[in-house]
Amino acid sequence: MPQPFQRVLLKVSGEAIRSNSPHDTVDEAVVDRIAAEIAAAHHDLGTHFALVLGGGNIWRGAVGVAAGMNQTDADNMGMLATVINALAFKDALRRHGYEPRVMSGLEIHRVCEPWIAERGRRHLEKGRVVICAAGIGEPDFTTDTAAVQRAIELEIPVLFKGTHNVDGVYSADPHQHPDAKLYDKLSYAEALERRLGVMDATAFTKAEKRQLPIRIFNIAVAGNIRRAAAGEAIGTYMS
Ligand code: UDP
Repeated sequence: MPQPFQRVLLKVSGEAIRSNSPHDTVDEAVVDRIAAEIAAAHHDLGTHFALVLGGGNIWRGAVGVAAGMNQTDADNMGMLATVINALAFKDALRRHGYEPRVMSGLEIHRVCEPWIAERGRRHLEKGRVVICAAGIGEPDFTTDTAAVQRAIELEIPVLFKGTHNVDGVYSADPHQHPDAKLYDKLSYAEALERRLGVMDATAFTKAEKRQLPIRIFNIAVAGNIRRAAAGEAIGTYMS
């Protein structure tokens, strides 16, 4: 019988909450559904969650750089985009009765608490969900790297990476290669070697160094957050 996790860090990429409307950036209904699942898993299984939000539904630094922008400005815009997503989750989680605290790697003190690892751990102990915004607060990083870093700092033993259009890690892009194989287990080294593009190399290297396992699964499938929190072997497990 699998045991539920006491603590997990869930990385939600911006793409997972992207609105289908060209006039909108965040799909509030999707945020609400994910928040409801997180709150239910917390309530029913006793799992304490921390979240790291991406920002790709709004802005990515690389887009600005490709258009000739300065990297720091372009990346700061990306980090601010993650703050917008974090606030959407804060609002939704509160509505579902799970007390949120947004902690930002960039100081925006009227809107979020500054990131202080010890304070984050204290929030978790008090039964609050910690929402980490603005990545690690430095340009030229990704929120995947931030997810690994924050999991380590919050002493969380597992990282969940939510995808939105595939069920985990495949041997090739399953949308282009229908015979691609879904891995149930994979080592960090294999993923890097085969260039499977699951996460960036900095995130992997850190996860491998600190022995942080990563479960990658589709959060667009209702019930998957709870299944993963309950310890079920869904998607791909990397260690
Ligand atoms: N970013 C950054 N430092 C960080 C995390 C993110 O500069 O520590 C910027 C970077 O420009 C990135 C953008 O924020 O493109 C949005 O993050 P990411 O691309 O990781 O979001 P996701 O793909 O997960 O939605």
